[in-house]
Amino acid sequence: MYPNLDEYEIFDITPMISEQLAVWPGDQPFQRTENLSFKNEDNLVLSSINTTVHLGAHTDAPNHYHPEGKGIESRPLNFYLGECQVVEVNTIKGKRIKPADMQQEISSHRILLKTKSFPRPDRWNPNFCALSTELVDFLHEKGVRLIGIDTPSVDLQEDKELECHNRIYNYDMAILEGIVLDQVAPGKYQLIALPLPIKNGDASPVRAILLKEKTND
Ligand SMILES: [Zn+2]
Repeated sequence: MYPNLDEYEIFDITPMISEQLAVWPGDQPFQRTENLSFKNEDNLVLSSINTTVHLGAHTDAPNHYHPEGKGIESRPLNFYLGECQVVEVNTIKGKRIKPADMQQEISSHRILLKTKSFPRPDRWNPNFCALSTELVDFLHEKGVRLIGIDTPSVDLQEDKELECHNRIYNYDMAILEGIVLDQVAPGKYQLIALPLPIKNGDASPVRAILLKEKTND
C-alpha cells in the first residue's frame, strides 16, 4: 500500500531564498542576475545565481567536515525521506542542547529539533543553539540517522573544532540545517528534503517539507 499524498497536509519548513536570506558571516550570500529580461527587450527571462551551497534549509555532505568525506551526490536519499519527529528543546540561546533538554520522547529515526534560537532567517544572530556530543551519542544510540535543527549549524558559531559535525561523520548520520519550525507542532510527520546531486558538493540547499495526514475533525 502506497500512501496517497493528496491526503496529507504540507508544512513548508524552507525559508524564502532571496538576497535578504542571512548566510554564515563571510560566506557568499544569494545573488540572482537576470542575463536576459523583458525589460531589456529580450524574448524571455534567463537568470543565473551565485550563492553558498549552505543556503537556508540545506544538508551538509561529509566532505564539508572531513578530508576523506564524500560529496553530497553520493549520499543515500533515504536519509532525507520518510518518517520524522519534531521535538522541542528548552535550551538557553547560545548553548548546546543536552539530552535532558528534549521535551518529548524520541520515537523516530529522523529528529528535527525546534530550538527557536534563530527566529529570523533574514537576520543573522550568533547566539543560536547547537547540538552537544552527548546529544549526538544519545540520538545515535536510539537509532537516529538524520538530525535537523532550526539554526544555521549543528555546532556553535565560535566552535572551530566542529565537534558535533565530527561526531556525526563518525556515525555516518545526516544533517539538516537552517529549517524553519515555528509553524510546526511537535509530533510525527513524513519528511521530504532531497539534496541536489552537486558533484563533490559540500552541501546542497533543499526544499524541506513535512507531510501530516489530514484528520477529519
Ligand atoms: Zn552547512
